[in-house]
Amino acid sequence: MKIAIIGTGYVGLVSGTCFAAWGHQVACVDKNAQKIDGLVRGIVPIYEPGLDGLVERNSAVGRLSFTCNLAEAVKGASVVFIAVGTPPRAGHGDADLSFVYMAARELAPLIDDGAVVVVKSTVPVGTGDAVQKIIGSVRTAGHFSVASNPEFLREGVAIRDFMEPDRVVIGVEDERARNVLMELYGAPLEAQKTPIVVTQRRTSELIKYAANAFLATKITFINELADLCEQVGSNVGELALGMGLDKRIGTSFLNAGPGYGGSCFPKDTMALLRTAQDYGVAVRIVEETVTANEARKRRMALKVMDALDGDVEGRTIAVLGLTFKPDTDDMRDAPSVPLIETLQRFGAKIRAHDPVGMENAGHLLSEVEFFDDPYACACNAEAVVVITEWDSIRKLDLVRLKKTMRQAVLIDLRNAFEPGVAEKIGFRVSAIGRSATT
Ligand code: NAD
Repeated sequence: MKIAIIGTGYVGLVSGTCFAAWGHQVACVDKNAQKIDGLVRGIVPIYEPGLDGLVERNSAVGRLSFTCNLAEAVKGASVVFIAVGTPPRAGHGDADLSFVYMAARELAPLIDDGAVVVVKSTVPVGTGDAVQKIIGSVRTAGHFSVASNPEFLREGVAIRDFMEPDRVVIGVEDERARNVLMELYGAPLEAQKTPIVVTQRRTSELIKYAANAFLATKITFINELADLCEQVGSNVGELALGMGLDKRIGTSFLNAGPGYGGSCFPKDTMALLRTAQDYGVAVRIVEETVTANEARKRRMALKVMDALDGDVEGRTIAVLGLTFKPDTDDMRDAPSVPLIETLQRFGAKIRAHDPVGMENAGHLLSEVEFFDDPYACACNAEAVVVITEWDSIRKLDLVRLKKTMRQAVLIDLRNAFEPGVAEKIGFRVSAIGRSATT
C-alpha cells in the first residue's frame, strides 16, 4: 500500500517507519525543512530506542522517504495519515486543532480519488466530522473517506508498542475506510491475535482521551496513597504490588512519583475536561486528577526544601534526570521544569544531568549548569534530587556519588534507590511514600 504521513514527530515518524517495516511504501511529510533535510541524510531528530536503525534500513531499501512536498507525498497514496501536534491552546486548555485543520485544507485538493484520510493525532470528539467538511468543501462526497485511528504508543518503547500493540482502535463511517484500515493492520497483527476495535469515528476519538485520563487517574491515585504511606509509616512500593497483583487492578501505572507530566497526559486530561464542559457533563474524577496533579508538582519543591531544613537560598542542588520519563528526549511538560524553576526562585543554584534530554532542557531552563557526567554534576552539591529514573541513574554508585558531594542528602522522587541502602552509605534520604525504615 502507498501511505503518506503528515507530521514527522514522535508519532508520525515512528508510525511511518513501522508501516514501512511492514512492507508498505511510506512517504513522511513535514513542514519543518530542517527535520526533513536531516532525515533525508539519515539523521533521526528524536531519541527513541531502535528508531535510527529501523529508519536507516527502510530508507535504504526505498520503502521510506521524507519530503516537505505534500503533493508528491500524497500522490497515489491510498491512505493519508494526519499525525501533527495538537498542543493545548494557550490559556484555554482545550486542544489546538489548527495544525490538523491546516493539514486537512492542504491535502484536500491533492489526494487521489478514493483516498482514506486517517486522523492519528489525538483530537476531541467531532474533529473527524470537521475534517470531513473541510475536505468535502473541495472534493466530491463519497470520493474520499475520513477515519480515526488514535495512537497509543509510549515514547521510549514506541516501536514495540506500535508493532505489538495491546489493541488497535479504528473509527470509521464507511466500508472503504474500514476495509483499507483492516487491510493495513489486520495482516501484520493477525499472528499476534491483536484485537482490533472497530467503532464509529466519534467513539474512537473519545477512546484515546478516556484511556489517557484513566491512566492519569491511576497515577494520581497511587501518588495520593504515597502521601498517606508517608504519614502512617507504610511503604507505597509494597502497597502498589499488593494491590496491583490483583488482575482487576494490574501493577502498571502504580509507581508513585512527582506527578505525571509529558506531552500527552496533562494536555489530554485538560482537553477531555473542556469537551465535558462544552457538553455540560461533569467528569469530576478527571477534574480532581488534574487539580491534584498540579498541586503535587508544586509540592515537590517543598519536599526538596524540607530535606534541606527549609532553606535552599544559595545552596547547590544537583538534579539527576530531566525528561518527563526515561528513554526519551521529550521535555514537554516535564515535572523537572517547574521544580527547578521553583527552587531557583527560592535562591538555589541548580546543576543538572540527563542522559539525552539536556539539549531540549536547555531551551526551557535558564541559569542551569549541565553536566554529561552525573558524578561531576553532584560535585560539591548539598543535595541530589532524582527526578527521572533512567537506568543509568538507578545504577549510579552511591558511595562514589556521596564522596563528591558537600552534604549527603538524597531526595529520590522516583524511588530509584532503596532508602535503607542509601542511608547505610550515609545519605539523609527523602523518598516518595516510604521512609528508610519502611
Ligand atoms: P510532534 O510535535 O513531535 O510532531 C508533530 C509534527 O507535525 C512536527 O514535526 C510538525 O512540524 C509537523 N506539522 C505540523 N503541521 C504540519 C503540516 N500542516 N504539515 C506537515 N507537518 C506538520 O507531535 P507528536 O508527539 O508526534 O504528537 C502528534 C499527535 O499524536 C498529537 O496529537 C499527540 O497528542 C498524539 N500522540 C502523541 C504521543 C506521544 O507519545 N508523543 C502518543 C500518542 C499520541
